[in-house]
Amino acid sequence: MDGKLVSQSVKDVLKHRTSERMGKGKKRPHLAAILIGNNGASETYVASKVKSCEEIGFKSTLIRLEASVSENDLLFKLNELNDDFDVDGILVQLPLPPHISEQKVIETILPSKDVDGFHPESAGRMVQGLPTYYPATPYGILLLLEHYKIETKGKHAVVIGRSNIVGRPMSILLSRNEYPGNCTVTVCHSQTSDLKAMCLQADIIIAALGKPLFLKADMVKEGAVVIDVGITRVEDATKKSGFSIKGDVDFDAVASKCSFITPVPGGVGPMTIAALMMNTYKACEAKD
Ligand code: NAD
Repeated sequence: MDGKLVSQSVKDVLKHRTSERMGKGKKRPHLAAILIGNNGASETYVASKVKSCEEIGFKSTLIRLEASVSENDLLFKLNELNDDFDVDGILVQLPLPPHISEQKVIETILPSKDVDGFHPESAGRMVQGLPTYYPATPYGILLLLEHYKIETKGKHAVVIGRSNIVGRPMSILLSRNEYPGNCTVTVCHSQTSDLKAMCLQADIIIAALGKPLFLKADMVKEGAVVIDVGITRVEDATKKSGFSIKGDVDFDAVASKCSFITPVPGGVGPMTIAALMMNTYKACEAKD
């Protein structure tokens, strides 16, 4: 599955819808991103989010704060963005410096502007099948499954990882009573006793554990759909940057067994950004 291509087609649709909105004199979607400190990976993620906004025709505001910023100052800034009618979506790039509570930050963002879908209210609404913003990575995976018309009804999905941003919401979304969903879902994690046996039963595997090349060919059933969420920087002297990006799946060995598989890079990563753009668009549209 080509995440770059599908992401581009989602962004093209949003670009078209945005220019239609502008033609009707409606508000331009506006995403505000806060980047704290200078973590290399975070810089890259935020830069591609801002670039996507520009491509689509959204307004974006990038707020850079020192790693030493106090929690109070950050929360104050978030409240300003909450109160700013022009801002539709707010995201704070994670991880945060250790002196700042991630939970406080997540809970300060208004649910109506929570385009990352991390607020407990957004998560609760998702669990209950109510309209809300889904976390961007699982939402991007749903868009990918939809694009490739992958049958999910009655399938056994194994999700490896139970984080609040990927594994847990993915497992909930795949079990919901609509497409893509209606799967029987098994959630595996660091305490799962026989992960290989679980994976071998899976029609769909979502690998989101953050361990490079973890999923091997002998853990995958013939014909399975494999979605690789992992992104780990691994030292690589042959690269100019000094590192290469590895997924959680041993792609070269696993691919020949799969009906569909996502590469890393070029799979879930770009879809996460497309999904974030979709959420931002919806947050703006909700104000019409
Ligand atoms: P996390 O560290 O919060 O969670 C990892 C999960 O994996 C935990 O629930 C843990 O129980 C489970 N786990 C760890 N070791 C395991 C093992 N040996 N067997 C089974 N389960 C195990 O990570 P996260 O934030 O969910 O991210 C997971 C990966 O996805 C990371 O590589 C991250 O960089 C990547 N990620 C990618 C995107 C994207 O856009 N592609 C977005 C978010 C995260």
